[in-house]
Amino acid sequence: MTFDFLATVKKQYSTVPVDRDFIRRSKSGREQILWVGCSDSSVEETDALGVPREEIFVHRNLGNIVSNGDLSSESAVEWCLNLLKVKHIIVCGHYDCSLIDKGDGSVLGGWYKNVTKLHALNEDYLRKSDSSLDYECRHRKLEEVYVLAEMDWLKRQENVRKAIEEDGLQIHAFVYDKHTNECFRLVEE
Ligand SMILES: [Zn+2]
Repeated sequence: MTFDFLATVKKQYSTVPVDRDFIRRSKSGREQILWVGCSDSSVEETDALGVPREEIFVHRNLGNIVSNGDLSSESAVEWCLNLLKVKHIIVCGHYDCSLIDKGDGSVLGGWYKNVTKLHALNEDYLRKSDSSLDYECRHRKLEEVYVLAEMDWLKRQENVRKAIEEDGLQIHAFVYDKHTNECFRLVEE
């Protein structure tokens, strides 16, 4: 199961700074959050959320990708849902992610194939809808729609859907800006 690429690039959403009390500290002191981040992002999960490190299960890889169905990501999600019973999954991308921008779908065993496809569609869509956008704006937009696509993909997975319905699991899309050291939530309209 892959992305709905066209729906993804047309998404309407706003970017909202993440409040330090967006997720409250858990009384149990155990993991309550699965954080999916990019390996080359300088974001500090604890700074972004204001919760202690022991409450966050961190899964990082090249380009914060969970939708490739790789064993490592699948296991992390399953572990967090079934054993830890986390209440939140956060997919956090970051602006200036060179891996996302330069990713060539043909290399690294096709790890980037969805991102490459999304990149091409996003460029095409933005050129038609607003040709005045410069490279940096288009790149930021790509990072945002990509994270939203990962969130959508997660929500469609059977185990995630079940946890949303039965345990009130919440899925969030974040983007980190290293220049301002700020995290933003992407909120769909
Ligand atoms: Zn990155």
